Amino acid sequence: MGAYDENNIFVRILRGDIPCDKFYEDEYALAFNDIHPKAPVHVLVIPKGAYTDLQDFGTRATAEEITGFYRAVSRISKDLGLEEPGFRAIINTGVNGGQEVPHFHVHILGGRALGPMLVRPA
Ligand code: 5GP
Repeated sequence: MGAYDENNIFVRILRGDIPCDKFYEDEYALAFNDIHPKAPVHVLVIPKGAYTDLQDFGTRATAEEITGFYRAVSRISKDLGLEEPGFRAIINTGVNGGQEVPHFHVHILGGRALGPMLVRPA
């Protein structure tokens, strides 16, 4: 995906330059409601470190950052009350993945049956 953009929208949220509707924060992760929710529950979880996407995070982040981040994702899903009857986690990656914001993030979606994983284009 190329070099990390120091002014992407999510790092500006992390810096406190732009407000967010925060749900959770710890040393490794920040979680907030998506501005354009695609389901009754739609929370974004982002790591505190500067990583562009899933690949960047998985190759450059420390074991502590990776563990801390994914533990936060699990805790947030539980705290949102989504463990039962389930939810969907999405990580869009790169151009074909439809990633718009170049700071690694996990979408957590739930609150209703979400239907098929992918909708085929007409
Ligand atoms: P992506 O397509 O990169 O996986 O998802 C980016 C997500 O960020 C989209 O669902 C979009 O609605 C959300 N988003 C973009 N800008 C903002 C913002 O300023 N605040 C919040 N809370 N969400 C945003």
